[in-house]
Amino acid sequence: MAEIIDGKAIAAAVKEDLAAQAKMYEEKYGRKIGLAVVKVGNDPASEVYVRNKIVACGKTGVRSFSYELPEDESEEDLLALVDKLNDDPEVDGILVQLPLPKHLNEKKVLARIRPEKDADGFHVVNAGGILLGLPCTKPCTPAGIIELIKSTGADISGKHAVVIGRSNIVGKPCAMLLLAENATVTICHSRTVDLKSITLTADILVAAVGIKEFVTGDMIKPGAIVIDVGMNRENGKLYGDVNFPEAEKRAAYITPVPGGVGPMTIAMLLKNTVEAAYRCREN
Ligand code: NAP
Repeated sequence: MAEIIDGKAIAAAVKEDLAAQAKMYEEKYGRKIGLAVVKVGNDPASEVYVRNKIVACGKTGVRSFSYELPEDESEEDLLALVDKLNDDPEVDGILVQLPLPKHLNEKKVLARIRPEKDADGFHVVNAGGILLGLPCTKPCTPAGIIELIKSTGADISGKHAVVIGRSNIVGKPCAMLLLAENATVTICHSRTVDLKSITLTADILVAAVGIKEFVTGDMIKPGAIVIDVGMNRENGKLYGDVNFPEAEKRAAYITPVPGGVGPMTIAMLLKNTVEAAYRCREN
């Protein structure tokens, strides 16, 4: 039976360390580290994510500035808010919750956030930094995935890591971070032929597909580390991209859903914000 990678406990330890850093910052500079959280519209999943992020800020001693904008918010006004937050010295990190309503240009909005304040690590400058191996803000979910893999004590170097999914926010940056750890990386997607033959060779398997229980036990190499990024809601219940009961019989380590990647994503968001605050003072 696989050992469970307890994302909740690992995230709690990260947040405890961040809380100490946030306290030190406040003592040294006379104000709390600040994260602006911008939500547009009423997407129910976004409501949950934003609420969790704001609660986590409170627990870590990071001040949150919450902006809840209506569904029909104009792009001009949203960009003006981003500009204001970019210039606000009390705001160290900015997060615009995705997805945005269809009439808003997500790329344009994300590009408007100053890269130094890009708490999510989605800005093209930070995305490019990951690709080139430059110091940059890493996207939260992929950064959390690397921490979860490392928590097993496994050496990533030389392992075959297979990432299912090539989105800009999870799959692609996750593959780049694994490459930076010297894994041999394969990226799979919806056009991949004979996916199972590839996943069966994965020492590390990251599932970021967005399809409930897509990865079945017979797709997993015995002894693999399995990271389930999926957050698929069905009748109020959360399901991963991995069939957990089957997978835990084959894997050596596995993340649960909930309680795996999700809590680490929030911890990494806070880490990015705390680091941004210190970086701003040190430069
Ligand atoms: P996404 O943008 O929809 O990307 C899904 C990827 O899966 C795409 O690259 C797609 O391939 C690939 N795919 C779809 N069907 C496939 C198939 N049959 N075989 C192989 N690949 C297939 O999703 P995302 O934003 O990366 O998110 C993925 C999942 O992670 C979702 O459940 C999301 O809710 C969850 N998530 C969780 C967190 C967290 O904090 N835990 C954070 C972000 C996302 P193509 O590119 O070819 O279409």
